[in-house]
Amino acid sequence: MARVLVVEDHVAIGGAVRTGLSGNGHEVTWAQTGREGLDAIRDSTFELALVDLGLPDLDGTDVCRRIRADQPRCVVVILTARDEEIDVVLGLDAGADDYLTKPFRLAELMARVQAHLRRGAVGASDAVVYRVGDLEVDTAARRVRLAGREISLRAKEFDLLARLASAAGAAVSRTDLMSDVWDEHWFGSTKTLDVHLSALRRRLADTARECGTPAPEIVTLRGRGYRLDGSTTDPATR
Ligand code: CA
Repeated sequence: MARVLVVEDHVAIGGAVRTGLSGNGHEVTWAQTGREGLDAIRDSTFELALVDLGLPDLDGTDVCRRIRADQPRCVVVILTARDEEIDVVLGLDAGADDYLTKPFRLAELMARVQAHLRRGAVGASDAVVYRVGDLEVDTAARRVRLAGREISLRAKEFDLLARLASAAGAAVSRTDLMSDVWDEHWFGSTKTLDVHLSALRRRLADTARECGTPAPEIVTLRGRGYRLDGSTTDPATR
């Protein structure tokens, strides 16, 4: 059972989603406006949030940003009728982990929600700390440190980094990243992977600059995927 926030002004869609989620044993808070959504975020903690981008009062991306700032461990899935790739990218940039394009089948939404929640639960029981150079990825606490300085990451950025760190120095294919970090039944654009990777690279580089340490590098291997290379402050071992 998880606490799920649904921010959706469309009564039929919101009602169906709430019924479906409750039927699966989840505790659902349904906000029909952006402001109600923000109130809910202030009052309770959620494991997962479904956020419609087209709300009557606020832009859904602002709601995503607030969730991301206040509840970094909450998985955020945007619901969008706006099929334009740019809207999806804006949503992901605002901190969403995944998206569904309307119209969607309820079964599809439920499968996606369960996959996200299961992944969180698996991550918690499989706790390890990966050390790659000065980078430390603690999967139990879901914390990342570079040269001792904490880096705050979105849920999917963390999962991506943990997956790459689990195979540090080796290539991980795009297909494996998509299926391990998102969903084995992923059918949408892999744009979401590119957006998260570039955000992750940016955060690693920014923190490295602040610490005055070399940044761990996520190397793109054309046609073969990605490889995480560690950095170390000791030049002798570089
Ligand atoms: Ca709407």
